[in-house]
Amino acid sequence: MTPPLGTATRDRLRIAIQKSGRLAEPARSLLAACGLSWRESRDKLFCYGESLPVDLLLVRDDDIPGLIADGVCDLGVVGRNELDEQAGERARNGLPPAYRELHGLGFGQCRLMLAVPEEWEWQGPQQLQGLRIATSYPAILAGWLQRQGIDAHVVELSGSVEIAPRLGTADLICDLVSSGATLAANHLKPVENLLDSEAVLAGPAGGFDDARAGLAQMLLRRVDGVLQLKDRKLLMFSAARESLPALERLLQDAGPLVIVPTQGGPAQGGSGQNGALSLQTMCEGAVSWQQLEELERAGARGLMVLTVERSLA
Ligand code: ATP
Ligand code: ZN
Repeated sequence: MTPPLGTATRDRLRIAIQKSGRLAEPARSLLAACGLSWRESRDKLFCYGESLPVDLLLVRDDDIPGLIADGVCDLGVVGRNELDEQAGERARNGLPPAYRELHGLGFGQCRLMLAVPEEWEWQGPQQLQGLRIATSYPAILAGWLQRQGIDAHVVELSGSVEIAPRLGTADLICDLVSSGATLAANHLKPVENLLDSEAVLAGPAGGFDDARAGLAQMLLRRVDGVLQLKDRKLLMFSAARESLPALERLLQDAGPLVIVPTQGGPAQGGSGQNGALSLQTMCEGAVSWQQLEELERAGARGLMVLTVERSLA
C-alpha cells in the first residue's frame, strides 16, 4: 500500500526521481546499481523498496526541490540547474536554505548559457546593459547579472525560450544547452556559460536524526562506489622483474602497478612461475588492443582486462 504523502516516515527513506524525461532512466539505473529494487504501485507514482527500506516517488523534476524542502521526500535526483534556481528563488524571498547537493551523479550534463542571434558580434557581458533576456532560470540569471554589475531585463518564460528573439519578446536568451543543436536551429549562438550542470543527489540542508541518517549514508557510499567504478578496468598480467621499468612507462596514466603476492612468490622472498611477477593495475576508461600489444612487446604475459563490478573504498 502507498503510505500517505506528507507524513514524515522515520524508518524508511523516500527518494524523488523524475517520472519521465532525461533524468528518469539514468536515475533508476544508478539506484538499481546501488542494490535497490522496488515493487511498483498501480498508479506508477510510488515504488515500494523491497531489498532495502528505500522507496521511490516518481514526479516532475521541477517539484523535487520543493518536496525535499517540505519533508515529503528525503532525497532527490534532480538537475543542479533546477536545484540552484529554486534555492536562488528561496533566498530572494528571504527563506532559509532548505536543501543541499550531496553528490554529483555524472549524467544529465548540460550548461546554462547565454545565447545571442548568430549575427551579433559578442564583446562581453557589458553589451547586455538594458537588453531583454528570456529564460526559465530567472534567479540564476539575476544573480549572475548582479555579479557582473549589469542592469538588464529578465523575461521569465516557462518554455520555448529559444524562439523569444524571433518573436521579438526578448533580445537574447539564457537556456540549457547540451549539443547546441536547438540553438543552431534557431540561429542563436552560445556566448557565456552561467552554470555547468549535471544530475545531482540532493538532500535536506539539515540532514536526518533518525534511521534515515544511516540509510542515506549507506546509499551515498554505494553511489560513490558505483560512480568510481564506472569505466574502470582492472588490468592483470605477469612479467619478469627486469621488464618493470618499461611496463611502468607504458602504464603512466594508470594507477600504481601492484605486485600481487603469490605463494612462494616475491612477498615470501621468491618469485612466481618461471621467475615472473604477478602484476595488476587499475585503468581509467577502455584498454585498447593496441595498448595490450605494446605491453606484450614490453614483456607482459597473460594479459587480462577485467570489469570491476563492486568495490568499497
Ligand atoms: P518534467 O516533465 O519532469 O518537468 P522537463 O521537461 O522539465 O521534465 P527534461 O527535459 O527531461 O525536463 O530535463 C530534465 C533535466 O535534464 C534538466 O533540468 C537538466 O538538468 C537536464 N538536461 C540535460 N541536457 C538538457 C538539455 N539539452 N535541455 C534541457 N535539459 C537538459
Ligand atoms: Zn521540468
